[in-house]
Formats: sequence, structure tokens, C-alpha cells
Amino acid sequence: MDAEVFRAWIVSAAEVIEANRDHLTQLDAAIGDADHGTNLSRGFTAVLGALDSASKTPGAILTLTGNTLISKVGGASGPLYGMAFRRAGKALGDAADVDLSDLSAALEAALAGVQQLGAAREGDKTMVDALAPATRTFSKAITEGASQDDALSSLAEAASAGATATISMQALKGRASYLGPRSVGHEDPGAASTALILAALRDVARGGR
Ligand code: ADP
Ligand code: MG
Repeated sequence: MDAEVFRAWIVSAAEVIEANRDHLTQLDAAIGDADHGTNLSRGFTAVLGALDSASKTPGAILTLTGNTLISKVGGASGPLYGMAFRRAGKALGDAADVDLSDLSAALEAALAGVQQLGAAREGDKTMVDALAPATRTFSKAITEGASQDDALSSLAEAASAGATATISMQALKGRASYLGPRSVGHEDPGAASTALILAALRDVARGGR
């Protein structure tokens, strides 16, 4: 996967965030402060503006995405997503083309960064509940020799299942944790956006390169 695939991923992620902006904000209205959709929409709009031809490698594109999200998105999710994209970018280095195992290492680095910054564990009802199972499932798929399409499909499906699984969880991190048991019964907005962003990766990389 080359820079064009990563550029297409970020453009597609921005589109899917925009299309789901109100939905994500509604999820955050139930257990937070009703700004997750608008936060990410503002962030990804800025990323689109920053994605110039100076970013010529997959790593540079992800690092630019992370830096822009950190500078444009307030709230918890900006620094957390920013960290995720920056760590993933750093893991990819300056390679012009990355393979499935490089991408797996980048996802592991992103997850480690999110957990280092936010200290959330699986089950705490955060974006980690989408990113962790997705990362694990992807790694397992490529170890078992899955094709690019199949590995990316399993990544996106695990993220989506992880996001759905947050409905029955009680939030232990972030703003939603202030609600205590009343946070149960609602999908976590950050887990939902993570699933959308990873589904965008599956969709743009389909067909394999
Ligand atoms: P804020 O909570 O500051 O309003 P957002 O609404 O944009 O920020 O993002 C909320 C999302 O951020 C949550 O749904 C959750 O997924 C994620 N989040 C919050 N705190 C943490 C944390 N400590 N670790 C991981 N994710 C977190
Ligand atoms: Mg919020």
C-alpha cells in the first residue's frame, strides 16, 4: 500500500466522519457533551486542508493527520486520535510502500499510544474497545496468511463488533464515566468513530495493491 492508498484512506475517513457527524454527536449527547461529531468533523476538515503534496509517504500522511487533529480538536478525542495517527505514522517510517505486517505494527503502535495517553483498558467503554480487538484480529489474520482484502475486512468487522459491544458497558474513562451506571445502554461515540475510520481503510484498500 503506497501513499495514494493512505491519502485515499484519510480523504474517505473525512467523508465518512462528515456523513456521520450528527450520528456521532447524538451518541455523545446520550453519555457525554454532544460534541464528538462536530469535534471530528472540524479536525478532519482541517486534515483535508493540510494534506498537500508535501506528504509523500504513508508515514508522513499519517503523521500530518495526527498533528492536525491534535492542533484542531479539543476535548479528549483530539489528542487521543492525534496520538494514534502520529504513532502509526512513526511506525511506518519513511517507507514508500507498506505491507500488511507494517500496517499491523502501525496499528499496535497506535493502540499503545492511545493507552499510554488515556490509560483506558478494554472494557472501559472507549475507542480502545474498537481499536484493540481490531488490531488483534488483524494481526491474527495476517499471521494465518489472510489476503489483504480478508485481513482488512476482519479488521473493520472486529472494530464494528467492538463498538457495538460498548453498549452494554459502563464507562470507566472519559466524560461518560461521570454518569456511572447510567452510561450503560449507549454506544460509545469514540468506539463508533474508530469503527467508521477503520471501515474506510478497508474500503479504499479493497482490491489490494
Ligand atoms: P470529550 O469527551 O472531551 O467531549 P469527544 O466527545 O470528542 O471528547 O470524545 C469522546 C470519546 O473519547 C469517548 O467516546 C471515548 O471513546 C474517547 N475517550 C475519552 N476518554 C478516553 C480515554 N481516557 N481513553 C481512550 N478513549 C477515551
Ligand atoms: Mg464530547
